[in-house]
Amino acid sequence: MSSVTLDHVHKRFGTAKGVEDVHIHIESGEFFTFLGPSGCGKTTTLRMIAGFYYPSEGNIRFGSQDVTDLPPHKRNTGMVFQNYALFPHMTVFENIAFGLQVRKVSKTEAKERVERIMGLVRLEGYGERRIDQLSGGQQQRVALARALVIEPQILLLDEPLSNLDAKLREETRFEIKRLQLELGITTIYVTHDQAEAMSMSDRIMVMQGGVVQQIGTPHDIYHAPVNRFVASFIGETNLWTGTVVAVEGDEVQVRTSSGQLLCGLRKNASPLSRIAVGESVLMSIRPESIQESLVSEGENVVTGTVEMAEFTGACVNYVAQVGSEPLRSMSINLGRPIKQRGASIGMHIPKESIYFAE
Ligand code: ATP
Repeated sequence: MSSVTLDHVHKRFGTAKGVEDVHIHIESGEFFTFLGPSGCGKTTTLRMIAGFYYPSEGNIRFGSQDVTDLPPHKRNTGMVFQNYALFPHMTVFENIAFGLQVRKVSKTEAKERVERIMGLVRLEGYGERRIDQLSGGQQQRVALARALVIEPQILLLDEPLSNLDAKLREETRFEIKRLQLELGITTIYVTHDQAEAMSMSDRIMVMQGGVVQQIGTPHDIYHAPVNRFVASFIGETNLWTGTVVAVEGDEVQVRTSSGQLLCGLRKNASPLSRIAVGESVLMSIRPESIQESLVSEGENVVTGTVEMAEFTGACVNYVAQVGSEPLRSMSINLGRPIKQRGASIGMHIPKESIYFAE
């Protein structure tokens, strides 16, 4: 298995910008995801790693080997495309064996390897079926088997689940993760689906408009988004603005439209240069960290008016207008009476759940 390094890589298409200055080091064996909305540059970056696009600037290394000038078939990567790109007139066995034939692997060895990989992706007994006789989920597994059978150093997956229905997508993401852990293969995964990225990845690179916004673990990206885009792209969050009125040790007092909030300052997760008295700040507060307060006053208790109450059985969700900003909360149902629209409600915002962004 191999690490992957992109050293200040740019890609321009004529005058159009593809991606700008991508600088990452993906560890050997890591599951690394490029996440972002359509057109953000995920596929372009993946295609440069596969060798289908040549970077306008910068270098790409696999381990210590510079592969920038190597054509795709010399890079030893396995790729799964969004539409699978299978050969419809061939059988499952022939599709999977194709890459081995091209590499002149003997028939006996090819048969062994294809059978082993069919077991791994749970396609035993399907060897003689034609591709058009398979379900979408089975076709997806053939595509995965075809990429893995050549024993690549790096597995590249471009939105591999987008043609599956929601339930199968969820099952298949666990399958892919299981395989990746079993094989320990360095995996680069492209998706616009934040739940997929969060559930599978060791680290995620969030992109927008061809520019890297943040690189971090799912936990970091979720809890400590660096800017407004990342905070709102990943899950739901409350974004509040305020002005810093005091900084004492690792605590910060921020004035908001609904009163003063005490916030925890994390040395590794806060943009420290912005946290100074008089500065305006953006705060991200996840709905599930906010609790209805039984008292209307106290540290970090804000009072608002219920605009919407939602009872899902397991959870009670509120949207309340607090000062000039809406506040969305999501709590486990503790059996308390549900407040209705127009009622006054106290909400407790724990200081450790407030993150500074931007
Ligand atoms: P999607 O999820 O829709 O596939 P993406 O994040 O993968 O989107 P890219 O396909 O990498 O985005 O595209 C990034 C930008 O580069 C877009 O503005 C796109 O129009 C442009 N682009 C991509 N490929 C080409 C090309 N071959 N020629 C010209 N522009 C291109």
